[in-house]
Amino acid sequence: MSETTFFGFDNKDMRSEVQDRFKMEMGKTYIISFATEDPNSVFVGCKMHYSKSLKQGWKCLSTSTSKEICCTQDYDGNEAKPRIGCVIVIYSDDEDELTGKTTRKVKSVKPWIFGGSVYDNLIKIYKIHGMVDLQVTCKDATYQTIGSLVPEKAQAWTTNENLKASILAKAKKLYSTLPKMLAPTKSISEIKEILGISSGSAEASTGLTLDSVAGNL
Ligand SMILES: [Zn+2]
Repeated sequence: MSETTFFGFDNKDMRSEVQDRFKMEMGKTYIISFATEDPNSVFVGCKMHYSKSLKQGWKCLSTSTSKEICCTQDYDGNEAKPRIGCVIVIYSDDEDELTGKTTRKVKSVKPWIFGGSVYDNLIKIYKIHGMVDLQVTCKDATYQTIGSLVPEKAQAWTTNENLKASILAKAKKLYSTLPKMLAPTKSISEIKEILGISSGSAEASTGLTLDSVAGNL
């Protein structure tokens, strides 16, 4: 039991941990950029399970040497998939009505969380173009499915030294929050409860055949 306390407007412990992250709207085009210049430290990742029927997801508890219940049970979502996060700069392009020239301005710096297929596409772009600004569109807002991902010119935010320093400082803070944001962490007993397995009788209640267990090992 935690203590009950009186406090003002500065109690960090009482604040919600929900972070504002990059969320795309259907049909909108976004210009974004990685909030780092170091290609060796861009992403944070883990494996996670997501069950569409249960509408729940959680971090995979298996390791390279042992498979846990989240991977060995028969349910939609038992295949753990990559969950990757990075911090991005989001721009807005302002058009000057007189000259018709557009100026790229930094609008915000936010975490961006996605799955393995987006990472695959980011690798392809990086291998050809290096670290560049990217144009992204969304084709499904619920699952944040990407419609297109197109490379642009060099990272615009890095050209102004003052702006660059403040972006890097903000990005550094956000990077430390990424591991928590990737997926909810649940214990083995919590996962058993979600999957409707009574503790201690996992094997008996699953109806798994020996073959399918062996295939998961
Ligand atoms: Zn798992």
